[in-house]
Amino acid sequence: MSDSEPAAPRRILGIPASPGVVVGRAFVVDRRRVTVPRWHVPADGVDAEIARFRLALVAARAQLEGIKSRLASDGSDHSGILEAHLMMLGDDMLIVQVEQAIRDECVNAEWALRRTVEKIKEVFDATSDDYFRERRSDVDFVGERVLRQLMGDPTELPRPGDMHGPLVLVAHELSPADTAALARSNVAAFVTEVGTGTSHTAIMARALTMPAVVGAPDALRTIASGDLLVVDGLRGVVLRNPTDGECADATDRGERYGAFVLSLRSNTARPACTRDGHAVKLRANIELPGEAAVAIDHGADGIGLYRTEFLYIDRREPPSEEEQFETFKRIVATMAPRIVTLRTFDLGGDKFSTAFRIPKEMNPALGVRAVRLALRERDVFRAQLRAMLRASCFGEVRIMVPMVTAVGELRAARAEFELAKRELAARGESWVDVPFGIMIETPSAVTMADLLAREADFFSIGTNDLVQYTLAIDRGNVNVAHLASTFDPSILRAIAAVCRAARERGIPCAVCGAMAADLLSLPVLLGLGVFELSVEPTAVPEVKEALRRIDVSEARELASQLLDMPTAAEIEARVRARWEPVLTSLLLGGEAGQYTETGRFVLPEYRPSA
Ligand code: PEP
Ligand code: MG
Repeated sequence: MSDSEPAAPRRILGIPASPGVVVGRAFVVDRRRVTVPRWHVPADGVDAEIARFRLALVAARAQLEGIKSRLASDGSDHSGILEAHLMMLGDDMLIVQVEQAIRDECVNAEWALRRTVEKIKEVFDATSDDYFRERRSDVDFVGERVLRQLMGDPTELPRPGDMHGPLVLVAHELSPADTAALARSNVAAFVTEVGTGTSHTAIMARALTMPAVVGAPDALRTIASGDLLVVDGLRGVVLRNPTDGECADATDRGERYGAFVLSLRSNTARPACTRDGHAVKLRANIELPGEAAVAIDHGADGIGLYRTEFLYIDRREPPSEEEQFETFKRIVATMAPRIVTLRTFDLGGDKFSTAFRIPKEMNPALGVRAVRLALRERDVFRAQLRAMLRASCFGEVRIMVPMVTAVGELRAARAEFELAKRELAARGESWVDVPFGIMIETPSAVTMADLLAREADFFSIGTNDLVQYTLAIDRGNVNVAHLASTFDPSILRAIAAVCRAARERGIPCAVCGAMAADLLSLPVLLGLGVFELSVEPTAVPEVKEALRRIDVSEARELASQLLDMPTAAEIEARVRARWEPVLTSLLLGGEAGQYTETGRFVLPEYRPSA
């Protein structure tokens, strides 16, 4: 670097994607900079060049199949994504275009492939179809995989050579397959330039409990292989070439965080109950089947929400009844005798739809989403219901329908449920008659809760959407995120009304939105009458510990005062004044922390010692 160039920054800020603190050597994987050679292929060499391309496709396919079966034997489940990559490898759009380019332009396969991948990405960019736009980076991953075969470097990830761990993998982007493969290497953390807290890679990092910072701009330009790095997955900070003092601080924090997590987990078998002895059903929200084991490991009472729509992403056709049955059966059997709440697919809105052709909508959150889509695609809906019913023979199951807005919708969904049973009976299959409940996440469902409670077997309040629809705040829009508060009086009143309706009909009522994992909201929820919670698996120990510090009698007193208060700010201030001191030591190992806009708890800014 010349003297006039500004020095590369030492601190790189990104998005905290998976908690933990690691000090390690950077291992930079810059596959995007693979220089693709171009050469002329004589007319009589074209067939051989095409054959070389086909061989590379076969090798890439074998490599992906290998990863898939290794992951399956590990018990991890990323088959949907790998399946999508395998499908792309067999896609005519890719194969025909590359072969045509080799033939028409008399160029080598590498060059034809890179050009074709760029063209496909342009087409995907221009389309209004969410499936294709979401698949843009997958095309890249698949293209790179074949390219590496062609260029004689077929390693799944470049090897760290003689670098010894712990290593920090730094990349522009990692495919979910790459991320999963990291679990078996000496990589202890990763940093990527792109991604969000809810991207596949981040979800997988959390499932692997590997610290990660994503969305760290210019990481590749700034960091060189061999640089010493501090990766702070709690705050989303990467520190390059830290001083000895900074390293010691980071190591200490990483150890304290690990000890804190372990201390919370040391007694996962103890029941979830409040200080004054009220039992709370504390369950886990999962997106991937492999998380069922993580939920048990963290002491969850069951699964309060399995987002089955994750089985429908990264593919162009919905999963079959059989495939879903096998997945549900595995989760249910793993969790037995604990209950598993299977939510029917909630696609549309902010959850990209891939297996269905949902027309482009001006307001997708208000469009063909969740139960509306299910009632439009009834055959697919019933196939899922049949799979769920069959899985009920292997443990305790209940089925939940998302985004219900009216009694008529619940009736229509239940009619499909009854039809699914008759279809199973006609096939001679067995099932257990399981509870059929709904999510309460729309203002109309809150208003109609008394009548819905007559026909639903249970309620689960989805506060993420309830806030979005009640306060008219797009849950994915960062510009209005500061307005979205679960302390809003309208939300508290809605929860109170729904709990009352459920209580009067004697049906269970849970909360499974992010509010359930917000420690400061726990006294509020208990006071409003919520005794069933569902949170992400890793949050279970913390929530359990917080519950043990709260008296329900006091929480009820507090809630009755809060229901008379006019603003979210006043309500939050009241709650903080009373409960923050009680919960502070819990809020990450005795250090004061703060909540992000998405409701995650993060440690304060990193202040290294002088
Ligand atoms: C919710 O809306 O609160 C909820 C739990 O469902 P999802 O986040 O999947 O929409
Ligand atoms: Mg929801």
